[in-house]
Amino acid sequence: MPAIRTASFTESVIREMTRVAQQHGAINLAQGFPDFPMPEAMKEAACAAIHGDINQYAITWGAPALRLGIAEKYRRWYDMQVDPDRHITVTCGATEAMAAVFLALIDPGDEVIVFEPWYENYGPDAILASATPRYVPLEPPHWRFDPEVLRAAFNEKTKAIIVNTPQNPTGRVLTREEISFIADLCIEHDVWAITDEIYEHIRYAGGHHVLATWPGMRERTVTISGLSKTFSCTGWRLGYAIAPERESVAIRKVHDFLTVGAPAPLQAAAAVGMSFDAEYYNHLSLDYRARRDSLLPVLADAGFKFSTPEGAYYVLADFSALSDKDDTTFGKWMAAEIGVAGVPGSSFYHAGSGRGKNMIRFAFCKKQETLDQAAERLAGLTARV
Ligand code: GLN
Repeated sequence: MPAIRTASFTESVIREMTRVAQQHGAINLAQGFPDFPMPEAMKEAACAAIHGDINQYAITWGAPALRLGIAEKYRRWYDMQVDPDRHITVTCGATEAMAAVFLALIDPGDEVIVFEPWYENYGPDAILASATPRYVPLEPPHWRFDPEVLRAAFNEKTKAIIVNTPQNPTGRVLTREEISFIADLCIEHDVWAITDEIYEHIRYAGGHHVLATWPGMRERTVTISGLSKTFSCTGWRLGYAIAPERESVAIRKVHDFLTVGAPAPLQAAAAVGMSFDAEYYNHLSLDYRARRDSLLPVLADAGFKFSTPEGAYYVLADFSALSDKDDTTFGKWMAAEIGVAGVPGSSFYHAGSGRGKNMIRFAFCKKQETLDQAAERLAGLTARV
């Protein structure tokens, strides 16, 4: 009999929809991974590292060259001084970073505030750490939080708040004012901020505000990000957590006993990517803007309602003008009959919330030809529902 803790979360719906897409030969706009190649220079560096015999464990908390590259990035982009020896832990993706940070910082019974809809991993992370999630809604259509609802969520049990911007699945980019409001509440209530900034370089509107750089926040923030989205290498599983020294020691211990370390040759290649100049990032954003602007009119013409994503590469679309089906039925029907797969909206809400059942998330991190094929198929949708 499996342990009770595993019974309280379900299989990942995102990855399930990838399997459903494969089963029906549907275009996979479900799981958020690019179907175009990652940068050539990094691929070459990875092959060179393997041939150069960098095939044994890296230092548990990350190869020195990669940690240096990460520290340099924070100095260059965000004017944030990070000590690569004391503050950075390189992990197997931002996913492992988030789980390790939960296990390292949160005690059983602590409350963790999460904006909802949310990226599905935060729920199981909370369960694994025996934490109690407390949900604060981002309200459609603009996906903003009510400041008073957020304030009311803070109490003496609150240990941390998860702040994901740009946000998966809504595409919201939190404003300077929203970040300041969150920072003030964290300071007032002595609460940690755990940020998920994996989409920091994929933005169409607004700046990226790093909570750790706010006055009084550095000592109570763990900044999580990774290479998967910035360098289109989700299969490399490289992420990191930046935390104050004492918390980094705890995060590194958890990380060590979970995985020992992230893949050594890929860390060597990642250091090459970290040194790319601004032109790389400009292209990344412009290319994603073109992909977004290609898919959105197609969805609008097909009858979906949504607000334009400000960042990340997802759109959370309301299909209630198209169908009365629930999200899972509609999502599976779309994959099977229309040949385009998305993720049912309810998987971004906690069980029992009853929300998200009229929504489906589409990912547009795809080649133009993939988006064109999806457009052809979606053109037939209205006639079929
Ligand atoms: N972050 C991506 C998404 O939301 C991929 C999730 C995953 O499968 N790890 O689709």
